[in-house]
Amino acid sequence: MLSGRGGGRLERMSDLPPDLPRLRTLEQWHTMWLTRIRTAILAAEQQEATAAAEKARREQQRPPAPEWVVQLGIGVGAPPVAVHMGGCAIVGKRHKGVAQEQALQLLAAGTAACHLCRPDTELGFLG
Ligand SMILES: [Zn+2]
Repeated sequence: MLSGRGGGRLERMSDLPPDLPRLRTLEQWHTMWLTRIRTAILAAEQQEATAAAEKARREQQRPPAPEWVVQLGIGVGAPPVAVHMGGCAIVGKRHKGVAQEQALQLLAAGTAACHLCRPDTELGFLG
C-alpha cells in the first residue's frame, strides 16, 4: 500500500515515520501537548485578565492627586519650602507627592505648613 504513494511524498515528510502505529503515537503525543499548551494559555490569559482587573481596580481607588505634597524651592537639591495637602491651589510647579509619614517628618524638621490648606492641622501636627 505504501509503495503506491510514490517515494517523493515520503521523502518530503522524512521527519515523520511512515507507519500507522508510530504516527498514531505521535498524534497522541502532540494532542496531549496541544491540550497542555492550550490549558496553560487559558491559565495565563486568566491570570493576565485578573491582574489587569486588579490593576484597574487599584487605579480607580487611588486618589487623583497625592494626599500630601511638598513644595520645592529653587537651588541645590531643591530644598522643601512648604508642606501642602494634595491638590492645594498654591503648590506651584515645583513639588512632589509624599507619604503622610514623610509630610510629618518635614513638618517636624521645621518645613513650613501651608497657611491655606493647613496640612499641619490635618496631620494633627502640633509643632
Ligand atoms: Zn497649601
